[in-house]
Amino acid sequence: MIAEKMKEMVANSSAIRAMFEEGNRLAQIYGPENVYDFSLGNPNIPAPEALTKAMKDVLLEEDPVELHGYTNSNAGYADVREAVARNLNERYGTSFEGKNITMTVGAAGGLNVILKTLINPGDEVIVFAPYFGEYRSYVNNYDGVLVEISPDTETFQPKLVEFEEKISPKTKAVIVNNPNNPTGVVYGEETIKRLAAILEAKQKEYGTDIYLISDEPYRELVYGGARVPFLTKYYDNTIIGYSFSKSLSLPGERIGYLVIPDEVTDSEEVISAANVATRILGFVNAPTLQQKAVARCLNEKADLAFYDRNRETLYEGLKKAGFSCIKPEGAFYLFVKSPVEDEKEFCTRAKKYNLLLVPGSSFGCPGFVRLAYCVAYDTIVRSLPKFEKLAAEYRE
Ligand code: PLP
Repeated sequence: MIAEKMKEMVANSSAIRAMFEEGNRLAQIYGPENVYDFSLGNPNIPAPEALTKAMKDVLLEEDPVELHGYTNSNAGYADVREAVARNLNERYGTSFEGKNITMTVGAAGGLNVILKTLINPGDEVIVFAPYFGEYRSYVNNYDGVLVEISPDTETFQPKLVEFEEKISPKTKAVIVNNPNNPTGVVYGEETIKRLAAILEAKQKEYGTDIYLISDEPYRELVYGGARVPFLTKYYDNTIIGYSFSKSLSLPGERIGYLVIPDEVTDSEEVISAANVATRILGFVNAPTLQQKAVARCLNEKADLAFYDRNRETLYEGLKKAGFSCIKPEGAFYLFVKSPVEDEKEFCTRAKKYNLLLVPGSSFGCPGFVRLAYCVAYDTIVRSLPKFEKLAAEYRE
């Protein structure tokens, strides 16, 4: 018999993964070229050549005993943490040191480490809908309580009035994800300044610490010159969670990092607890070969032109077919309004055309569907006539 809590988690298990599996099933029946799988944020472009080279070089150059061994600190290799800190300082004018960096098993590992570090049972964690659905499970892992801010379905920017109202003495953390999965919107500097001011005021009012967790695996994936504010500059109690999954097309390799700045309240204690959390969650340390490889590729970039072309073609094609959505400025997702209230019904109809979309309710925002456009360009081009047929069904 599995644990009660796990039964709940299995019952609510990710619709995204289910759709991904459905994609594989349909591909076997109709051939992969006839399935338009927009379900998963699994990058379709290979990791940069520099990364492949770095991995080979690391294998040839590093002492294998050290390379494949446990790291001295559970937070990762000292030289890697220092390289990450230096790189952030160069890019954002910060003054981090190696000790401020904890290498993690992707963004998911990092979020679990920091929530394990901070959350007591019953503590509240605020998220802005629509949000990455896994936050529910991550918060639940530590018996925290997820508090949702309802979506602004016109702009998908955070509703700050409701946010202010919902902060309570039990609020321990707020998660923001910028650029955003599933909408592709970017929260600009003004929004972040207002959000930070609200948090400062509430910390004072309640005499508590409220940690802002910035989940940013899509930091570099922005189009048309959009700027993503670096949040440690706006609010002292900020912790950054980063991942190389999307920027370097490495989601299966499981590598990322947390930044815990000195300005965070009880920063030394938080850093050393994150170290222990990394160990006792069973990660022990982030994959060692990946640590060494990404440290050599900190200035490498994803092929933005590839995603941008997908973005333009899919956005224009969907609009022409009669669908409505806002044009994303970042990440590689489009959040499309369902032509019927029940977006799950819409997803089921889409499947008739082998179009695989994820219902917005997975992200706390029913009435919309998410398309991940990190797919082959050809998939997008060939999917557009299918979307036109699907749209026509709703006009009949
Ligand atoms: N956070 C967000 C917003 C994501 O979209 C994802 C993955 O899609 C993750 C975290 C997890 O990323 P990782 O593969 O680095 O664990």
